[in-house]
Amino acid sequence: MRFQAAEPMSDLLPPTLQFEGTEEGYDNVRYTRCNNNPSQTAVAAHLAALEGTEAALPVASGMAAISSTLLALLEPGAHILIVRGPYGGTHDLVASLLKKWGVTSSAVSPEDGPEQWEALLQPGKTRLFYAEAISNPLCEVYDLAGIAKFAREHKLLSVIDATFASPVNLQPAKLGFDITLHSATKYLNGHSDLIAGVVLGGQELIETIRVTANVLGPAIDPHSCFLLSRGLRTLGLRVEQQNRNALALAQFLSEAGPKVAAVHYPGLKSSKHHKRAAELFTNGGCGGVFSFELAGGVDAAEAFLKRLQLPLVAPSLGGVESLVTRPATTSHAGLTAKERAAAGISDGLIRVAVGVEATGDLLDDFSQALAAVPGAA
Ligand SMILES: *Cc1c(COP(=O)(O)O)cnc(C)c1O
Repeated sequence: MRFQAAEPMSDLLPPTLQFEGTEEGYDNVRYTRCNNNPSQTAVAAHLAALEGTEAALPVASGMAAISSTLLALLEPGAHILIVRGPYGGTHDLVASLLKKWGVTSSAVSPEDGPEQWEALLQPGKTRLFYAEAISNPLCEVYDLAGIAKFAREHKLLSVIDATFASPVNLQPAKLGFDITLHSATKYLNGHSDLIAGVVLGGQELIETIRVTANVLGPAIDPHSCFLLSRGLRTLGLRVEQQNRNALALAQFLSEAGPKVAAVHYPGLKSSKHHKRAAELFTNGGCGGVFSFELAGGVDAAEAFLKRLQLPLVAPSLGGVESLVTRPATTSHAGLTAKERAAAGISDGLIRVAVGVEATGDLLDDFSQALAAVPGAA
């Protein structure tokens, strides 16, 4: 697998381009909202090569990728299957906007298989199965190969948000997914300095989604294309270090004694998602996000976060710097405490999104922060 640009960063041009007087038709007139600016097509080619798909449509955010895809592929009356507790923006899109346009959904759990999925199908209405590579923040792994196969057998479109895995750890097209989505804001760019997203898949489906995106208008700015091309050049190096850092910290915490109540990371052999992750993820790399609970609950979590020196307290993930949050106060603050409990997200849960710092430095930092948390060692 190649992580380098196929070509030097050529063709990176501003949004308005002078017409050269060639005989091309109107469709070939370059206008940046229509996703045919050379900076957009250069980064699209790079992304498609990384992901192993025919085509790619880079857009202005991960949510632009998700909303353009679902609005392009669904129509009023359609029904979809979707993983339980998806990314917050996706949940809101499905539960409010798509619902308003007459699209309904049924949620599936990681334990479900073809029998449960089949029972949820609405003949003539179910169009699409929407999966995520790794769930947030409990890092659950679904039977992704099974979902792609089931979708094919039942003539559903299979769509996966593979942001958490990145193309380094997972190649959904190889599993048979029709569409792969990423928030390029995260690993693909990796420097926390732009907002972008990408839709990847076969030429025909990408064209359908491009037509919708062109009228919705979430085109990616050419300067962001330049930054994203820069970020992609170190994707492999960054994600491999993030895989290492997350595994080392998760292992440290899982062996740290009674102060730590639970650690959620599919890279841990003790995780109930480990077997699936080892089968699905390239080199078993499970990404840079894990979560854990301290026995002392919210107070212990706050004490721990106050003591940590290296990670910033911030949402997002996939950048070069480590970030920590309490999902109850950030990504899942919109749920009631009862809804969070039902989803398995305790108020003291800490989510860590590691960066590319030296593994030893992060281990030292987590170790000193844990030592400062009250309780028996
Ligand atoms: C961040 C994120 C998104 C949304 O991406 P934006 O670039 O913020 O719009 C979608 N899915 C997942 C899994 C994410 O982490």
